[in-house]
Amino acid sequence: MSTAITHGGPQLPQERRLVTEIPGPRSRELFARKQSAVPSGIGITLPVFVTHAGGGVIVDADGNSLIDFGSGIAVTNVGNAAPRVVERVQKQVADFTHTCFMVAPYESYVAVCEKLNALTPGDHEKRTFLVNSGAEAVENAVKVARHATGRQAVVVFDHGYHGRTLLTMTLTAKSMPYKHGFGPFAPEVYRVPLAYPFRWPTGPDNCAEEAAAQAIDMINKQIGAENVAAVLIEPIAGEGGFIEPARGFLPKIVEFCRANGIVFIADEVQTGFARTGHMFACEDEGIVPDIITTAKGIAGGLPLAAVTGRADLLDHVHSGGLGGTYGGNPLACEAALGVLETIEQDRLVERARHIGEIMLPRLRAIQEHNPIVGDVRGRGAMIAVELVVPGTKDPYPAAEIARRCHEQGLLVLTAGTYGNVLRFLPPLVIPDHLLEEGLSILEKALNVG
Ligand SMILES: *Cc1c(COP(=O)(O)O)cnc(C)c1O
Repeated sequence: MSTAITHGGPQLPQERRLVTEIPGPRSRELFARKQSAVPSGIGITLPVFVTHAGGGVIVDADGNSLIDFGSGIAVTNVGNAAPRVVERVQKQVADFTHTCFMVAPYESYVAVCEKLNALTPGDHEKRTFLVNSGAEAVENAVKVARHATGRQAVVVFDHGYHGRTLLTMTLTAKSMPYKHGFGPFAPEVYRVPLAYPFRWPTGPDNCAEEAAAQAIDMINKQIGAENVAAVLIEPIAGEGGFIEPARGFLPKIVEFCRANGIVFIADEVQTGFARTGHMFACEDEGIVPDIITTAKGIAGGLPLAAVTGRADLLDHVHSGGLGGTYGGNPLACEAALGVLETIEQDRLVERARHIGEIMLPRLRAIQEHNPIVGDVRGRGAMIAVELVVPGTKDPYPAAEIARRCHEQGLLVLTAGTYGNVLRFLPPLVIPDHLLEEGLSILEKALNVG
């Protein structure tokens, strides 16, 4: 039982073990407390209360061990309580916890920035600064782009997700649940089509050219390229349903930005840090962003995010124009250094590709005989299935299938503009046998016929 467990991390038994129904009695008790203490606006995917996690499992307050296909939304890429992260954070918390980098700095912040400058696409001169969340990174990237260009308009894409603050929910495409009732929204945000192969009206073959042409025409006609500070895009749309833009779309958009002095911002908050089988998803098509925003996978679960980009853009802002009290907190910076060491030393980029090589063929085999699987897509360990009503492209609710997986001790997440995508983001350190077991549970859960 859970009382025997003293540590999380990779030494946790790597097994699915259900000792109660899901959620069990202890979790239900805690959930009742949550209901009277926490607003209902904070929704919960799977109400098991966690006591330990590591490798490919999450252990709950009833002693159940669940297979983790979520990584806390692409955060624990290196696994929960990863040893190099734990060791560095434990040392740092005993040394000092905070000075504010803007007041009295420390080396780990600079070391994280140096690493990000070196690891992100492009060998031009770069600068990085650190903030606390993905939304904060995106907001800051927009501030920098506006400052450096002297322009105001920001172009975003259909199905995009960029956060929940006023500006970033404005940048986000989907109304319910992210924007509904929260207006008025920030000005000077414009949305153009995304090359979504599965749902492109004329089919996937001309999707890249047609979508890029439409997007560029809309920018030219409705905004005027000379008024656009930045074009902001996720190289794979995350919340939107793991939509990989049709190949060729991103390079065309980048080319348009370069020709018109527009800052191209890649939001790699979800796709970054080995997740897609590259360190960053932009590498897949050789895209070099002017600015790149990162967060989620950066620090193994400690709150940290970064804005990395061309030195001439980031150095354009006056001293004191950027920052924040907690940005680049020393615990989070040490965690990030532990994450980057782990990705490199444990070869997690290759490990992400290996996960994709296990998952994609099995999911495609399921698709062959199960007509609710409309599309199988993704790269590395960022994989999704889009569910449809058989024989149509009408959305089939992913939450129903997710619930069936949860009951069997497999944590999966949903996504998609139409709520019909199951997304899989296993920790990159998940053992193969848990991946296979999770896929078998999923295969059964998808049998709704
Ligand atoms: C999660 C996410 C964000 C927002 O990050 P927070 O840390 O939740 O503020 C922004 N962009 C993308 C692509 C994301 O996936």
